[in-house]
Amino acid sequence: MINQNKMIRKCFSIAVSGLLILLLPAACSKGVLSAASRVEFVMGTLCRIDLFEDGNPALYNRLFTRLAELESIFSANRDDSELARVNHNAGLNAVAVSAELFTVLERALYFAEATDGAFDPTVGPLVKLWGIATDHPRVPADWEIDAALALVNWEELELVAGVKDAPIAGTAFLKREGMALDLGAIVKGYAADELVSILREAEVTRAIIDLGGNIYVWGKKDNGEPWNVGIQDPGAERGDSIGILELEGGISVVSSGVYERFFTGDNGKRYHHIMELRENGGGRRGYPAENGVLSTAVIAASSMDADALSTSCFVLGVEKGLVLAAANGAEILYIIEEKRVLGSPGAMAIFTY
Ligand code: ADP
Ligand code: MG
Repeated sequence: MINQNKMIRKCFSIAVSGLLILLLPAACSKGVLSAASRVEFVMGTLCRIDLFEDGNPALYNRLFTRLAELESIFSANRDDSELARVNHNAGLNAVAVSAELFTVLERALYFAEATDGAFDPTVGPLVKLWGIATDHPRVPADWEIDAALALVNWEELELVAGVKDAPIAGTAFLKREGMALDLGAIVKGYAADELVSILREAEVTRAIIDLGGNIYVWGKKDNGEPWNVGIQDPGAERGDSIGILELEGGISVVSSGVYERFFTGDNGKRYHHIMELRENGGGRRGYPAENGVLSTAVIAASSMDADALSTSCFVLGVEKGLVLAAANGAEILYIIEEKRVLGSPGAMAIFTY
């Protein structure tokens, strides 16, 4: 029985992105990807949108154009993004920002406060120092880590709201030179929510949005059943799931984990991309968090919240993370050492493993 299940899961895994695996049996049984989908590399990750019978080139164009637009606002790697403008003005000037950037920064500060800084949108200097998502990652020296950490402080990001309904939502100011925003832990969620508002407007009935593992499911499968989203088995090959979540309607599931982006140091040790900023669970500040958590998957109607929570709850560990998720109306699954699965009651109720 177990073996058979495993075989079926493998066969159905047609879209593998990060820690979440979309299981779309209809397309798999035909041996081809559904024609009603499009995949592009944007926002630094592979983005896949399935519109099924509602798929048409104009709508796909609109959705991917929107993603490109969001990249040009939020990218931490591009010099010409709106975010980069705030970073370039660190220690110098408050910068007038769009409503979109203002909204995400406000929400990021909300989670920074809620986690007592375990989640911090000013993590930029530390992310750059480690270079984990780049071609030249390295383990920095202690003095470099200390210097970067000294520039990470959400309380020195000042947001001032503008006049209501003005084209400029307000200003953002990083108070010290060298500080830098990095919204990598929240912005794919915001982007998924933005795409969903287009789906709603276009009256799309069924869709799946997968922005590098940041998933939004819309409607149901054509047979009326819920969608199946597999959770990556942390110890196994990419695409092997440890269990399956059943989801339907308009809901997001977002995952964070040690196997998502990492590099292997000279000492053979793996370094992943989620940073310990507050010494919550025994890990060292300024290093990848090491608290026994292998991955989190957060389920919420707001993908922006699910994204921020997946990272926050990863760093906070199980006990505090369960409380934070519940306080924000989200469900959560944890995979911890020895592949043990823990979760909120609502998440466990829809998870089979
Ligand atoms: P993914 O990018 O794989 O979806 P996450 O949502 O967990 O994963 O975001 C990880 C990214 O968030 C990192 O690549 C980095 O840009 C940023 N980040 C790392 N540590 C933190 C932290 N403690 N607080 C806020 N953002 C972080
Ligand atoms: Mg996240």
